Amino acid sequence: MIPYGRQTVDDDDIQAIAQATRSTWLTCGPTVGKFEQALAESAGVAHGAAVSSGTAALHCALYALGVGPGDEVLVPAMTFAATANTVVFLGARPVFADVLPDTLCLDPASANDRITERTKVIIAVDYAGQPCDYKSLQALASARSLPILADACHSLGGSYNGRPVGSLADITAVSFHPVKPITTGEGGMTLTDNPALDARVRRFRNHGMTTDFRQREAAGAWEYDIEDLGYNYRITDIQCALGLSQLGKLQGFIASRRAVAAEYDARFARIPWLKPLFVHDPSGHGRHLYVVKIDFQAIQRPRAQAFKQLREAGIGVNVHYRPVHLLAYYRDRLGCTEGMCPHAEKAYEQILSLPVFPGMTHEQIDEVVRRVLELGGS
Ligand SMILES: *Cc1c(COP(=O)(O)O)cnc(C)c1O
Repeated sequence: MIPYGRQTVDDDDIQAIAQATRSTWLTCGPTVGKFEQALAESAGVAHGAAVSSGTAALHCALYALGVGPGDEVLVPAMTFAATANTVVFLGARPVFADVLPDTLCLDPASANDRITERTKVIIAVDYAGQPCDYKSLQALASARSLPILADACHSLGGSYNGRPVGSLADITAVSFHPVKPITTGEGGMTLTDNPALDARVRRFRNHGMTTDFRQREAAGAWEYDIEDLGYNYRITDIQCALGLSQLGKLQGFIASRRAVAAEYDARFARIPWLKPLFVHDPSGHGRHLYVVKIDFQAIQRPRAQAFKQLREAGIGVNVHYRPVHLLAYYRDRLGCTEGMCPHAEKAYEQILSLPVFPGMTHEQIDEVVRRVLELGGS
């Protein structure tokens, strides 16, 4: 099976892991800080705080922004459920906004329509690795004095108008899950220029404690306090050693993903029943996913059948995503209904994610293209 995504881990990554495993600190050690500094620097911001997953990063970021019971948070309907789940973790309500039909990124006009006096944060998701329309989002956010949280789990390493992902919002959350731009196995990070937000993330990831173990060791003190509840969202030094090693390869990984996408673009250019998503700036797109919209009516084949046929042919296609407001929890517990986000709902019927990962070979790309074109009888 050619998977839709997969990690690239080389011998030097494994050596970095082995070295970290032999050191004094397996967790809360110096490698965590080194990885945070290196990633923050590459993203053009002052602070990074590493945590145990992208979901934890979103949870910490929303906490840092002061989200709590009674608040509403704008969430695009076309995203992974964690974007909305973390809002619910804090007792707040996700309000789903629609996406733009050509990019499946948050539609600023829909976001604007759904802002109320309870709105506390706007979450922008850089769908498939393409940064959102931050110019429009920043304009509407600043008009209402609302912060933007970027869910950049797909787009780390990308850029928007020459500015790196990580520096485009008040705070940004990224993921290091194996299919994401770089991996630590599981892991995530918040990125921000705001020292107060960073400090709140750091406290929340470590039980709400005012000092961490190494700070107490260094001070020769046992004392800490807990002023607010937090979680154990820490990441290990072993994982951060892998992250540091991977970070050095991030731009290479993305160049490789872009080359795969360019080859798909060329091969699919004149297929009337298949359209790749619109790309504003190929040089800023992280190409986490290669998503096509297929006119399943035109090829007289329902998506389920096309999906099954491709999987049986060894092509690891996927669907990203079933709109979050249509998932059972959001329907049953939050009263979400069909029709709330028509562009996301319509797109959901049409999309397929094709395999894309660093080092994908021409033979693999050719096999995917051949099998996909077979759907249309060619
Ligand atoms: C992967 C992902 C997350 C969650 O990240 P984890 O590291 O798996 O917890 C959140 N949002 C989006 C858009 C993602 O793709």
